[in-house]
Amino acid sequence: MFKNYFIGVDLGGTKIATGIVDNEGNLLATVKVPTQAEDGWEAVSRRMGDTIDEVLIKANVKASDVGAIGVCAPGALDIPNGIVLSSPNLKWHNVPLKKIIEDRFHIPTYFDNDANVAGLGENRFGAGIGSKHMLYMTVSTGIGGGIIVDGQIYHGSSFGAGEFGHITIDMNGPLCGCGNYGCVEAIASGPAIARNAKEKLADHPESLLNQYTTITAKEVSEAANKGDAYAKEVIETAGRYIGATLAGLINTFNPDLIVIGGGVSNMGELIFKPIRDEVQKRALGSFVANLKIVPAKLGGEVGVMGAIALAQSAGNV
Ligand SMILES: [Zn+2]
Repeated sequence: MFKNYFIGVDLGGTKIATGIVDNEGNLLATVKVPTQAEDGWEAVSRRMGDTIDEVLIKANVKASDVGAIGVCAPGALDIPNGIVLSSPNLKWHNVPLKKIIEDRFHIPTYFDNDANVAGLGENRFGAGIGSKHMLYMTVSTGIGGGIIVDGQIYHGSSFGAGEFGHITIDMNGPLCGCGNYGCVEAIASGPAIARNAKEKLADHPESLLNQYTTITAKEVSEAANKGDAYAKEVIETAGRYIGATLAGLINTFNPDLIVIGGGVSNMGELIFKPIRDEVQKRALGSFVANLKIVPAKLGGEVGVMGAIALAQSAGNV
């Protein structure tokens, strides 16, 4: 039977955001509550279910009219079985979240990780509308990615595709959280930008960064926006490494669009210009001619909108 509504749930370390759309993609209701991860997985998964009940009530929709629920969850997931294998943020191990939600609502429920879901959300509702071959990269605490082909997430053989952050970009580079050396995440993520800025700060007594007691990517960006040459150079270098990484991905996937999200993408042209310049220099010319590289549009709503897109694409198959 054809169902008219789809629900998306974004489970994050600090908040749970849930939304419901009708068949035309109109957002009918949203609910946001704190995750309170310290209460443990049973309480948090119950709270997720409660937000689903709340959007159903707010939108005046019966559970039996919902085609699918999409869930975006952090950490390592067993995507087809909807199990959160381990999530450092939530302190969860082997939580069968898909089963918990399906047992409560009797609605087919689909899972995916943050970056894949964000990519799908941008493709369906944000900066990537109309793109058939889209790559999404998120640059914040880490660097993640999503490969979206014909409106669907490309998962690879074991549901791990899209780990753009762990592409080696410098054989002799710094140690990455994954255990490898020289991953782009270890060189150009938010924390890496802050570390790079601090490393040679002593050689730049004129830099505004000397006035800050703590330096994160945000302060580096702030200083660069005030015209600080050293801060600009640090961001430009990170942008060039991201651009070189994207050039490799462009040569591999031949996308028509690249959408960049995450906190670092808010730096605007400071980082987008070196990214585009480096792509122009390194990717195959014919692949770059019609390629656009743009910032994400959905901001803080990307998780819930992506989870809705996941429900729509899975529920319509
Ligand atoms: Zn790595």
